[in-house]
Amino acid sequence: MPPAPLLHRYRGFVLDIDGVLLRGRTPFPGAAEALAALRALGPVVLLTNNSTKSRRGAAARLQELGLPVRAEELVPSSFVAARYLLREHGPARFWYLGEEGIPEEMALAGHTLTDPGQADWIVVGMDRRLTYAKLAQALQALLRGARLLATNRDPTYPTEEGLVPGGGAVVGALEGMGFPPEVVVGKPSPVAFQIALETLGLSPQEALMIGDRLETDIAGAQALGMDTAFVLSGISTLADVGRTGIRPTWTAPDLPSLVQDELLREGSCG
Ligand SMILES: [Mg+2]
Repeated sequence: MPPAPLLHRYRGFVLDIDGVLLRGRTPFPGAAEALAALRALGPVVLLTNNSTKSRRGAAARLQELGLPVRAEELVPSSFVAARYLLREHGPARFWYLGEEGIPEEMALAGHTLTDPGQADWIVVGMDRRLTYAKLAQALQALLRGARLLATNRDPTYPTEEGLVPGGGAVVGALEGMGFPPEVVVGKPSPVAFQIALETLGLSPQEALMIGDRLETDIAGAQALGMDTAFVLSGISTLADVGRTGIRPTWTAPDLPSLVQDELLREGSCG
């Protein structure tokens, strides 16, 4: 698969995962080869709003599914949250509603897990073991003045069995108690793209964002001044381009087509 001329314009690549490299647990045909072709042109990071895993955990899952990736190439929202808090507020005492990705990345960044009563920050993400008791603990912490960071507010999460409640369901439960998040770091927040670019060591103008959701992947990257490639192998459709007015730099049926320079004319204004 020879590298395509259009991709030579960029020094690195930020990729969404679901809808770009795979759906559920099934990698798309040619995804691993396309990833290898991108790496030959520049560094690659995979930016995902999924907070359930750390970089290491997310890489291990993709490796099990047959996509060879390194932990340093992953930028899950658990990592984005940990880096953001360190950058903006220094080492924090935190408690969380979420899965193992949050405490793992928070500890690696130098933050300290405490009881909810001692926490300065409550960090929230998708939590498949959410209980009423945990919500009550979070409420007590928030009433005592803890600040609230949401890793993402994706309403749902795609699995092989269909959609399941996402990070937005947990955020919504806290909002329903009167506590909206002070900050949401996942896409389309600029924070997510900033941390991805920091990981690549590139400026917004040097990197291309490749994603399947217009409102998050494409609009979020454009707000930072990045060029974007919209692939039609996921959620958003060509009709959504007209409906939303979000115009990607490039549009391709899927990632292998993009890498082979097989673009669609609609939406390709580069
Ligand atoms: Mg996606």
